[in-house]
Amino acid sequence: MRRKAGWRKARRLTVTPMTETRSHPKSCQDEKDPSALPVGDALAVILKYAGAVAGTEKLALRSALGRVLARPVISPVDVPAHRNSAMDGFALAAADLPESGTGDLSVVGSAYAGTPFRRGVGAGECVRIMTGAKMPEGADTVVIQEEAEQVGERIRITADNKQGQNVREAGEDIAAGDTVLAQGTRIGPAQLGLLASLGIAELSVNRRPRVAIFSSGDELRSLGESLEEGEIYDSNRYTLYGMLCELGVDVIDMGVIRDEREAIRGALEEAAGQADVVLTTGGVSVGEADYLQDEAARLGEILFSKVAIKPGRPLTFGRVANVLFFGLPGNPVAVMVGFYQFVRPALKRLMGEASVTTPTFAVRSASKLKKAPNRTEVQRGVLELDADGDLTVRLAGRQGSGILSSMSKGNCFILLPHDGGPVAPGDMVEVQPFDMLRW
Ligand code: AMP
Ligand code: MG
Repeated sequence: MRRKAGWRKARRLTVTPMTETRSHPKSCQDEKDPSALPVGDALAVILKYAGAVAGTEKLALRSALGRVLARPVISPVDVPAHRNSAMDGFALAAADLPESGTGDLSVVGSAYAGTPFRRGVGAGECVRIMTGAKMPEGADTVVIQEEAEQVGERIRITADNKQGQNVREAGEDIAAGDTVLAQGTRIGPAQLGLLASLGIAELSVNRRPRVAIFSSGDELRSLGESLEEGEIYDSNRYTLYGMLCELGVDVIDMGVIRDEREAIRGALEEAAGQADVVLTTGGVSVGEADYLQDEAARLGEILFSKVAIKPGRPLTFGRVANVLFFGLPGNPVAVMVGFYQFVRPALKRLMGEASVTTPTFAVRSASKLKKAPNRTEVQRGVLELDADGDLTVRLAGRQGSGILSSMSKGNCFILLPHDGGPVAPGDMVEVQPFDMLRW
């Protein structure tokens, strides 16, 4: 429901988007193709249309790993639940600390983590206490074992101790009633542990978006089939499968669709009927057999069809029926770049995540990098430590948009901005490690 309402709202805002793309000042246009949208503008259009999918579910804590919170989590308890010792030592009342010299206290019992000393500590008394054990009534200070001299049944302590030392207060980490996790938080290992520490066994999370994928191209064969002349294996459905699974959405794999209008129309309709997003590769250039854009436009609308980015310029975004449509170009590297830079933020929005974009950070480039003006270029790099132990990035081999091996050898994108020029060795560049793009 929420998504449909979003569409209606967004559609009213849509004023012939294709003209919008041509209205950029000449200085920021891609010289080769003035209708290509700058990356930031393309992402803004995408995010205007992408809203969280409706529907939540209750899951047992472990099953919620990778999911996004549908509601904030309020702590039902204090963490720690009770005042406890941060060290192994002796628990006592600060009033018994000597003002100068030394003082002796009698040891009246022991407190272990999980087995408290149930009596209180009186004047002149102390209790042997282990890390994590509840502080006995009457005690507010712990003198560590190494600083207490054992004299028979008594200990001798010095004046070098302070009231309240080595004690963790109840609620010091989290107080009952605190918001511990905001709505839209992705549940990772730390969140699982945090929630377990509060005794929370069940969570309300957003349902996983469904993404239907297919590859288009007469030359494509699936694994297990033999290749005739001019044919290639479909690798895009494998990279997409990997990226979608890591992100945590449900994948509906519709296989390979031939470059025929009717087949493409049928596949788009079927995909839109069962998914929240339709994601295709191939068939969006201006080749003779590129029907995807036409057919998507018939069934919905196209908001833009070119982005000033290399690789991946012919990226199409719009809707088919009332679900989002991304038509990525066929080249395997363009698919991965287009997915990470444009599809992923949209899917994170659909998942209900509060934060959807991934920061870049600057490192020194060890390589010389070519860069054409007026487009963003996304190169594949290897982040590593140089001989001086400083983090640097170098090019991960050949950079053609069909060369998956440089994606596979690389561990980061090097993002060369729209307005920037070539890079000389020693210049700073912005990078995005692949590992930061998984979720
Ligand atoms: P297209 O965008 O359809 O013009 O395809 C551009 C290039 O990517 C062509 O060389 C295609 O053969 C190749 N290609 C398209 N789809 C795939 C795919 N699913 N797997 C591997 N290569 C592909
Ligand atoms: Mg094709």
